[in-house]
Amino acid sequence: MMNKKSVLVSGGAGYIGSHTAVELIAAGYDVVVADNLSNSDMSGIEGVRAITGVDVPFINVDCCDKQAFAQVFEQYDFDSVIHFAAFKAVGESVADPMKYYCNNLLSFINVIDLMREYGRHNIVFSSSATVYGEAEELPVTEATERKPATSAYGNTKQMCEDILRDATAAYPEIKGIALRYFNPIGAHPSALIGELPRGVPQNLVPYITQTAAGVRECLSIFGDDYPTEDGSCLRDYIDIVDLAKAHVAAINRMVEGKNQCGYEIFNVGTGRAVSVFELVKTFERVNNLKLNYKVAPRRAGDVVAVWADTTLANKELGWRAERSLEQTLQSAWEWEKRVRNIE
Ligand code: NAD
Ligand code: UDP
Repeated sequence: MMNKKSVLVSGGAGYIGSHTAVELIAAGYDVVVADNLSNSDMSGIEGVRAITGVDVPFINVDCCDKQAFAQVFEQYDFDSVIHFAAFKAVGESVADPMKYYCNNLLSFINVIDLMREYGRHNIVFSSSATVYGEAEELPVTEATERKPATSAYGNTKQMCEDILRDATAAYPEIKGIALRYFNPIGAHPSALIGELPRGVPQNLVPYITQTAAGVRECLSIFGDDYPTEDGSCLRDYIDIVDLAKAHVAAINRMVEGKNQCGYEIFNVGTGRAVSVFELVKTFERVNNLKLNYKVAPRRAGDVVAVWADTTLANKELGWRAERSLEQTLQSAWEWEKRVRNIE
């Protein structure tokens, strides 16, 4: 009998995985982290240990190396897996698609194969709102049709969703939930863990916090001529701790046998559309600072607007986003200050 209160977190040294590990432990789960530190370092794990007071086991392993990864299944008796391990830079995936297909698909295929071989039952997969592309109906529900991916990264998310759908249909002992994240931002209120992008940040909030910290000179707002109220794009920014809690809810649902079918999909967002200008202004207001920014041309590939209808997650997972944009943007700045040793 596998331990129902134990979860393998692959990619758990990273941004979302480390916050999820904290919330799993708070909810009474044992956590094992497997990560090859290809886009992270041990500070995430150390932060999780400091916040929880639990000496979380960490295994440095590449999930694409099936033999090595199998050792984790040999050694630990978790019944559930949350699979975060993937590369996530959209632009890089267009320039080097094979890097993304190899890592993101193979690591996921290995997880499912090993779950079958070792008799493990529940899996949560990190999907993304990117699967909706430029949606015809807003907000998007889980039934909104996916659009053909415009990057290899986005394509790996769609392909992994399909792999999970087919695997759970064919092997009923395996249950799966795909969580489609909207835009995760912010940091743990302790400021002991947060987002640590390597090089120049591609995402809005880390670019903002690094600009405020003086690491970047000026934020470029990509486009002010979109067909929105203030001309900038609309997104659904979800607090990282709220997002982490959605994973706990998904695991609880499968452990308790409440999932209605073998494969389910949930949007994980706030349900609220926020423009780039609104986000920048809120960041300035709550942190009492002025940000150096300018309007720049549109960024290729950006959709105008996407935000979530969260009815399904609210109802079925019993989960909803609780933290305000203000709290989240304060936490993002507290984290950046800590990383940069700013008082
Ligand atoms: P992250 O890069 O901080 O974390 C991913 C972790 O996986 C890293 O620690 C990395 O070292 C590890 N990893 C990558 N390939 C691995 C491999 N082959 N074997 C072992 N470890 C490996 O990224 P994140 O923001 O925490 O994202 C986690 C997941 O959520 C990813 O699948 C990502 O695509 C997905 N996602 C992220 C966002 C976002 O905006 N951050 C949005 C939607 C979906
Ligand atoms: N954005 C911006 N400047 C930046 C980074 C992002 O104006 O330096 C905008 C981007 O055009 C989009 C929004 O911020 O409208 C969110 O972008 P991000 O890359 O964080 O997430 P995405 O929704 O594109 O995955």
